[in-house]
Amino acid sequence: MKTKYIFVTGGVLSSLGKGLAAASLGALLQTRGLAVTIQKLDPYINVDPGTMNPFQHGEVFVTDDGAETDLDLGHYERYLNVPMSRKNNTTSGAIYNHVIAKERHGDYLGGTVQVIPHITDEIKRVVLSLAEGDNPPDVAIIEIGGTVGDIEGLPFLEAIRQLRSELGRDWCLNIHLTLVPYLRSAGELKTKPTQHSVKELLSIGIQPDIILCRCEQNIPQDLRKKIALFCNVDEDAVFTSVNVNNIYEVPLRFYEEGFDQKVAIMLRLPARNAHLETWRHLVDVCSHPQGNVTIAIVGKYVDLKEAYKSLHEALIHAGIANHVQVDLRYVNSENVTAANAAEIFAGCGGILVPGGFGYRGVEGKIAAIKYAREEKVPFLGICLGMQCAVIEFARHVVGLVEANSEEFSPGVKDNVIYLMTEWYDFRTKNMEKRDLGSDKGGTMRLGAYPCQILPGTFAAKAYQKDFVEERHRHRYEFNMAFKDVLGEHGLIFSGTSPDGSLVEIIELADHPWFVGCQFHPEFKSRPMAAHPLFRDFIQNAILHQNR
Ligand code: GLN
Repeated sequence: MKTKYIFVTGGVLSSLGKGLAAASLGALLQTRGLAVTIQKLDPYINVDPGTMNPFQHGEVFVTDDGAETDLDLGHYERYLNVPMSRKNNTTSGAIYNHVIAKERHGDYLGGTVQVIPHITDEIKRVVLSLAEGDNPPDVAIIEIGGTVGDIEGLPFLEAIRQLRSELGRDWCLNIHLTLVPYLRSAGELKTKPTQHSVKELLSIGIQPDIILCRCEQNIPQDLRKKIALFCNVDEDAVFTSVNVNNIYEVPLRFYEEGFDQKVAIMLRLPARNAHLETWRHLVDVCSHPQGNVTIAIVGKYVDLKEAYKSLHEALIHAGIANHVQVDLRYVNSENVTAANAAEIFAGCGGILVPGGFGYRGVEGKIAAIKYAREEKVPFLGICLGMQCAVIEFARHVVGLVEANSEEFSPGVKDNVIYLMTEWYDFRTKNMEKRDLGSDKGGTMRLGAYPCQILPGTFAAKAYQKDFVEERHRHRYEFNMAFKDVLGEHGLIFSGTSPDGSLVEIIELADHPWFVGCQFHPEFKSRPMAAHPLFRDFIQNAILHQNR
C-alpha cells in the first residue's frame, strides 16, 4: 500500500471553509512533490446534488466523466489542477442506494443489513478505492461534509474511526477544523466551542491529531497551548486559518504556519521542500491589478453567489490573465427590459448570461442579449445563456417572432432550442429513442464531449486548437432544423460536435466579441491557466470599457 489518508472533519458550525482548507493543504503537499487526491463525503440523502436547488446547495460541479458533484470539487480541481471524477464525491444517498441494491439482489444471503457493518463497509470501500489502480496517489484527503454532532454524519465518522485502527497510525491523520470566535464585548478569543466539538469527536472514538482553528485573527501562543492541552494534541499541532481577502492566499498562510510541514512529519511523508513560486506570483498579480473591468452577470440566482461559484472564479482567473480586477455587477434578469437595458448596463465592459433552468427571468436575459448584440457590448452566453442568444437572434434578426425553447413553450413550431433526450441516450451515447419515464436524475447531457472549432472565428482565436473537450449539463440543444436559416442571417456556428450533429458554440461576425457556448467553460478554468473564452471575453470587455 502506498496511499496515506488525511481525514478532515468540521466542528461548531458549517461554512468554516473546510473545502478550501482541504484543497489548500492538498496544493501545498503537491508542491512538495506528492501526488494528491481529495474526496468529499456528503452526509445528505440525495444520491447526488444534481437534483438540488442551487439556492440551497450552491453550484453543481460537473466532472469530465459526467458526475454531478459538490461545489467543493471545483475548489479541488482549481487548487490541484487535476481532474476529479465520480470517485471523488459520494453521499449517504449513494452509499445506501448501493447497499439496498445489493440487498435486493440477495447478496447478503439472508443476513440482517445494518449501518454497522454494511453501510460503514461500503463507505470504507469507497474511501479505499482511491488507492486502487496503477498510479495510486501518495496522499488522499477525505473531507467529511457537515459538522461533528450531526446525526446523518455518524456512519462516515464511524467508518474513518475503523479505518484508522485497520490501516494503522502511520497511515491516517485526523484534522479537525473548528471556530475560535472573537467576542468583541469581552475583547477575547474563545476556545470553548473548540473544546466541545473535540469532546463530541472523542465520544465517537476519534482523537484529532491536528486542530485547525478558523479565526478572524492570529491565535496567540498561550491560547494555542490551552487548546492543545484541552484537546490532547501536540502544542505545535494547533494552527490558525485566518480570514483572507483572496482565497488563493490560503496555501501561503498555511505554509507560514508550518501546517503542511507538521502533516508531512506526522504522516512520515516522503516530501521535499515546498515550491510556492507560482502561488506567490498568483497572489502578487491579484493584489496589484493594473485596472478594473465591470462585468454584468444577468441571472436568476443573483442573491446567492455560491450558485455561480465556478463562474465567479473563472472571471477572476481571466482578470488575472489580463492583469485587471474584475468587478461583478449581479443583475436580476427579471428586472431587465428593452427600456431600461441602457441604464442597467451603463459602464459595463461586458455582459455575461450564465446557465440556468426554467422560464423565470428568461425574457430579461433575452433583452440583455439584444442590447449586447445591438450596442456591440462584448457578450458571453453559457448554456442557457447561449440558448437565449439563439432565441434572441431568431426573433429579432430572422423575424421568427415565436422563437423559443422547448423547455419554456413546448410544442411551438419555431422552437430553435429543442429537447433531444427523447432520441439520444447520453449515458450510453446510443442514438436510439429511449423512455425517460419520470426519472429526473441523470437525464441530461453530462460531462466532457468533443467539439470541433471552425477556423477564423472568435472561438478559434481563443482556443488556438481545432478540437477541444468541454463539460456539459443540459437537456436541450440547438435545433438543427433552423441551422440554415439562422446561418443565412449571419449566425456563425463556430463549434460543433465532430459529426456535425450538435451545435456547441455560436457567434456573430459584425460584433467585437459575441460568443455563446452550450457547454460550461467555467468548470475547466484554473487560477494559473484562465479559460481561453473567459480570457478573451475579459480582454474585449477591457477594450470596450476603455473605448
Ligand atoms: N435549461 C437548459 C437545458 O436544460 C440549460 C441548462 C443549463 O444552462 N445548464 O438545456
